[in-house]
Amino acid sequence: MNTYTIVGGGIAGASIGYHLAKDGHKVTLYDRRDAGQATKASAGIIAPWISQKRNKDWYKLVTAGARYYPEFVSSIEAETGVSTGYKQEGIISLFKDNAVLEKGYKRIYSKKENAPEMGDVYKLKRHEVKEMHPHLTDLYPGVYVEGGGQIEGANLLKALKAGFIHHGGTWLDKDFVPDHDHASGLVIYSTGAWAIEQGYAPTIEHQRSEVLHFEVKNDQKVKHAPVVMALGPIYLVELGENKYAIGTTHEKTESFSTEPSVENYEYLKDLAHRYFPDSEIEVIDMMVGLKPFTRDFMPYIGYAGEYTFIANGLGSTGLTASPILGKEIARYLNNQTTVLDFDDYSYI
Ligand SMILES: Cc1cc2nc3c(=O)[nH]c(=O)nc-3n(C[C@H](O)[C@H](O)[C@H](O)COP(=O)(O)OP(=O)(O)OC[C@H]3O[C@@H](n4cnc5c(N)ncnc54)[C@H](O)[C@@H]3O)c2cc1C
Repeated sequence: MNTYTIVGGGIAGASIGYHLAKDGHKVTLYDRRDAGQATKASAGIIAPWISQKRNKDWYKLVTAGARYYPEFVSSIEAETGVSTGYKQEGIISLFKDNAVLEKGYKRIYSKKENAPEMGDVYKLKRHEVKEMHPHLTDLYPGVYVEGGGQIEGANLLKALKAGFIHHGGTWLDKDFVPDHDHASGLVIYSTGAWAIEQGYAPTIEHQRSEVLHFEVKNDQKVKHAPVVMALGPIYLVELGENKYAIGTTHEKTESFSTEPSVENYEYLKDLAHRYFPDSEIEVIDMMVGLKPFTRDFMPYIGYAGEYTFIANGLGSTGLTASPILGKEIARYLNNQTTVLDFDDYSYI
């Protein structure tokens, strides 16, 4: 049994803590619960095969992440009795027209060979998109991927915290101050956007992202709708009967403010009207999260000193990547074989 201190209880720290505690180690986790925590603001889309990003190490991580989700979620829900909100209703990727759709379909379908968890992948005509997602506009054709999933970040954190404590971990809702708090064993920093306070390489920058939560006023009741990757970087996720979130804005900033911006509110509300043209939109809330990035948009997982380990820079796919990372980091620290090669993620 080893002793670990984890600083940061977002999805990264909580996943690592959970897997280490489950392996029988003595783990203490500090979480300051900063406003802007990325995990709580996240849309929770688990569908890495749709992305056009080409980096192979990133792709290996996020596809392993998506593959691990169903098993991981059913095990932690059974252990803790906490529902994570995980569902696999599939994902529709929309395209501007049929010519672009053909290219998109080829790109997405080609990934199926090495990712059978994608399930069925097929094209949807405009009216078929509407049949599958009745509130949505019928302006665009799409590609449907059956294995696309969605998780509720805040609920997953609740389950991880309960599982961590169940396995003997100590969770402290407080700031970790190195000169004041005695850290035992290896210290794992998963402090997201706030890593700048520790000053370890690589530099972690952050993007401020906003998501609008709203209800559609429409006689047709829709529940269990697939996730929608709309045009550009826009997505729509269903959050309960006739409730959705639309996002997201990206703004690189040094500010840690989490005040919603009026401009982004209007922008996202406008988009909600565009994608749900037949419904009245009633805004529920605006969520603001600070997404941690490295300069190269790659996660950094590795040592920063003899007793210091970093897991950060998870960017836009941290919810997808973190559970498998937690499992694999625990195996790595236990000197067990891992599926991921950590040299690929500790590039400094
Ligand atoms: C709007 C939005 C949408 C997203 N959508 C998706 C998506 O669809 N799919 C997907 O896979 N990913 C998505 N992401 C990305 C994902 O949410 C992040 O990559 C992930 O949550 C990062 O987790 P983290 O644990 O590194 O950081 P965070 O969740 O930000 O957690 C860091 C924690 O560290 C704590 N902390 C910092 N310093 C200290 C200290 N000194 N002492 C104690 N605690 C400290 C903070 O309080 C915080 O709780 C989205 C993110 C945002 C913002």
